[in-house]
Amino acid sequence: MEKIPSYFYVGSKEIRTRVHKEYEGYKISQIEDIQRWIENTNQAVVNEHLIATFVINEQAELLISDRHSEHVMCAGGQAVLSAGEITFSFEKEKIVVSEISNQSTGYCPKPSSWEIVEIVLNKLEIEHPNAFTSAFEFRYCVVCETKNLVKEEVYECIVCGSDLDLEWNIHKMKPN
Ligand SMILES: [Zn+2]
Repeated sequence: MEKIPSYFYVGSKEIRTRVHKEYEGYKISQIEDIQRWIENTNQAVVNEHLIATFVINEQAELLISDRHSEHVMCAGGQAVLSAGEITFSFEKEKIVVSEISNQSTGYCPKPSSWEIVEIVLNKLEIEHPNAFTSAFEFRYCVVCETKNLVKEEVYECIVCGSDLDLEWNIHKMKPN
């Protein structure tokens, strides 16, 4: 099997200092764990939906945290195979994944990290979309060293206006 690319943390150093065992994401090994996490952490389900922070760790496990927590804390400071936001929806007696994205400015995973996300969700046997419902393109501006979220396929740095690489290039940043 081809090695799955992993992503190191490129977010703020200050946030990284807050990484602590206590704030690591909750490991979801089976669908029932989602319900357990909701109860243990008193998550508020609004209109049958609940948004959470997620990462896929390097062991290809799904970890989730409160949506307001940072991906790097969810991941315990480790590299990840994917990261973003996940929406659980409650349909009758069932929990499904209704929306999912790669929106993580801490790790900036490629849209193609969906592949491992799908493998993990399939293993959990949870219903899910067949791609990221929102897929983000992150680029690093090598001129002014700013991280960009590319909007409407305009590959131009939001800060200095330089052309951005067409290919994903976040690996050019230094790990924090
Ligand atoms: Zn720039």
